[in-house]
Amino acid sequence: MSYTGPDFDPPRPRRSPRRPLIVAAAALVPGALLGWAVYAAVGGSDDDGDNGSAAPRPSAAAPASSGGPSSPGASASEPGGPDDGTPSASATSSSPSAPASAPAGSGALKGKVVVIDPGHNPGNFQHAAEINRQVDIGTNRKECDTTGTATNDGYPEAKFTLDLAHRMRALLEEQGATVKLTQDADRPFGPCIDERARIGNEAKADAVVSLHADGAGAGQRGFHVILPGAVNAGGADTRAIVGPSRELGERIAGNFVRVTGNAPSNYVGGGTGLVTRKDLGGLNLSTVPKVFVECGNMRDSKDAALLTSGAWRQKAARGISDGIVSFLRGQRSAR
Ligand code: ZN
Repeated sequence: MSYTGPDFDPPRPRRSPRRPLIVAAAALVPGALLGWAVYAAVGGSDDDGDNGSAAPRPSAAAPASSGGPSSPGASASEPGGPDDGTPSASATSSSPSAPASAPAGSGALKGKVVVIDPGHNPGNFQHAAEINRQVDIGTNRKECDTTGTATNDGYPEAKFTLDLAHRMRALLEEQGATVKLTQDADRPFGPCIDERARIGNEAKADAVVSLHADGAGAGQRGFHVILPGAVNAGGADTRAIVGPSRELGERIAGNFVRVTGNAPSNYVGGGTGLVTRKDLGGLNLSTVPKVFVECGNMRDSKDAALLTSGAWRQKAARGISDGIVSFLRGQRSAR
């Protein structure tokens, strides 16, 4: 079927005229998203889907105040940062035009199980030996988990993914879904990537989304959704989930653009916001529809200003959740 699902509306210039760049970027997206790009795995053996290297230990990062008032992004750590749009509105209200969502509390997703996998764990930094242990991903062996990245000001990816997961859980539970997190900083480290996949499988999840933010170079911006490629080796067999995972990922990408107004990645995916990979254990070992979402690049100051904003995270949570809702409702009607 076509990329744009029945619930996907092209982004509308709903924002104020003082933000022409964002509107223009969003308007370009429907065309760009029609294409498909198969992205060969980037170098490195991390299994977190992130480009670039792991973060410095957050404790080693410069204090937030060191950037001074002129430091870009340094003042944007809370709602109301320069790129947040309307900070007070997005945190609590739903857009009346949001087509993917049933009315709050409608129970439209009753009986549906969604597993949210917050990438990494804030405790991974303290457990290098454990998370470096190799685990079997069917096609290969890889590290149990990684530390994740961080912004240059020291906001860790693991903290970002947990906050986003909590916001998504609230939105999806409003729709009646049963939501399970693979970790909630309630364990000292991990889980390992194989267990992360197993949690979704054993929950018989209707959809699983693994949350991340990237650690690429400055100037590399935007989100992308990572889809499982077809693999069949050892304990990995993704052939049955490639199709539905693609559908899930397309709906998430479309709704992410619509709700955040942000353009897809300018450094992977050829402008589609979609990347297919066969090297991630968290995808290879999944037997249920699953994608990774890389919400932005923590090492770019403009993206970091978004990722560290609570108001923006609420938009991101709504975009991803609307994509999941759209996928699950389409799936039900197709059965
Ligand atoms: Zn990550």
